[in-house]
Amino acid sequence: MPELPEVETVKNILEPLVKGKKIAEIDVYFPRLVLTPLSEFKSKLIGATITGLSRYGKFLFIHFDNSFVIISHLRMEGKYRFTKEYNPIRASSACFKFNDDTYLFYDDTRKFGIMYLTDEEHYLQEKMIAKLGPEANKIQDSDLPLLYKKFNKKKPMKALLLDQEILCGIGNIYADEILYATKINPLTLGNELSHSQIDEIAKNAKIILSRAIELGGSTIHSFHPSEGVDGKFQAVLMCYGKEGEICPNCGTTFHKIYVGGRGTTFCPNCQINKHYEKAIGITGPIGSGKSQVLNHLKDKGYLTISCDEEIHELYKDPIHKNKISRILKTDFDIDDERKRKIARLIMIEKPDKKKEVEKYIYPVLEEKLIKYITDNELVAIEVPLLFKAHFEFLFKKIFVLSLNKEKQVQNLENRGDSLEISLKLNSDYHYDKSNKKVILIENNRSLNDLFEQIDKNLN
Ligand SMILES: [Zn+2]
Repeated sequence: MPELPEVETVKNILEPLVKGKKIAEIDVYFPRLVLTPLSEFKSKLIGATITGLSRYGKFLFIHFDNSFVIISHLRMEGKYRFTKEYNPIRASSACFKFNDDTYLFYDDTRKFGIMYLTDEEHYLQEKMIAKLGPEANKIQDSDLPLLYKKFNKKKPMKALLLDQEILCGIGNIYADEILYATKINPLTLGNELSHSQIDEIAKNAKIILSRAIELGGSTIHSFHPSEGVDGKFQAVLMCYGKEGEICPNCGTTFHKIYVGGRGTTFCPNCQINKHYEKAIGITGPIGSGKSQVLNHLKDKGYLTISCDEEIHELYKDPIHKNKISRILKTDFDIDDERKRKIARLIMIEKPDKKKEVEKYIYPVLEEKLIKYITDNELVAIEVPLLFKAHFEFLFKKIFVLSLNKEKQVQNLENRGDSLEISLKLNSDYHYDKSNKKVILIENNRSLNDLFEQIDKNLN
């Protein structure tokens, strides 16, 4: 989706091409594009000459010599295309023909873009424009008191940065970049920030957006500023879209979460959320005594969460159930023993299917865990695949249980699980020895010995 720098780039590329051109005809192929009655839109613009283009936030304005103004919003995938011949494409929603036989097409594959007609006197007072906050690349010191007030909400900062009525022009890419530069976790609530942190956000928003404008915006996915022109800002993106890559600042792997449904990349080490700094993670191979440790912590007053149980609950939700059925190409039902066994066998035989299931369910699970951690004081979570799911960032300490093979087989036999299947499903268990949060706990002796080690390390 084009953000402020991209729309600025569109404006800069388009203006010299169309300034001074007189409209001879207008074709609208997709009537919903134009919010003004079509006959009025045409009658007021045919014969008028374009005097210039301007922009506020992500809105583009086309000014005419008869004082009319088109307000245009490209939304997801709208693009302008200036040509010397009449060549509409499938995505074309409208075409402005000029009296020198040149054309300006508006193409929009997703058809979310809009256009409407107003005039010089009123365009900045139009409801959609007037409610917008100051432009993020032009924040003044005098805007700060209002920002302190508007950010003072119990909402994640990622969501507040996307709120165009607080600051306008910031979309998903630049919100991630601004938070990374300011070392603020995307889930930190607005009302947890100090004034000096908001000052920093404002400063970084200005720097990042100005630099993006200089570089012509980012060419990502659907956005191309113009045919044959690539934005260059993606080359200097520090964080956005870098899930799985290494943070240049600290060497930690960038992590992706969903905040209000928007994919969000951040560095779990540089952008710490204070809520995460208290939870305890428990992991270890199958049969290593994780549930016993969890029960022990429950007795000590912790809210205890078992991820296996959480996932079991998630799989009951018809949305997730259907999705897993589609991935595994079988009628998946966690409460039906036979169907559950079939699903397990598919995942053992087809590791890529297992991966796909995990890739789908881990972010959903993560959102649930984050909620437990932020809403409660003492939380302990048993996560069998903690390192595989990259959940390290959620915890203050991670107890990694280990045991010898003999003891593991003995434990599994006591549980009556199928030894072979259990071990196969768990064959991808691993942990990160170098992680500073890891506390290794050996569970080859008695329960008492196990709990003693836990208690010693809790303090
Ligand atoms: Zn980092």
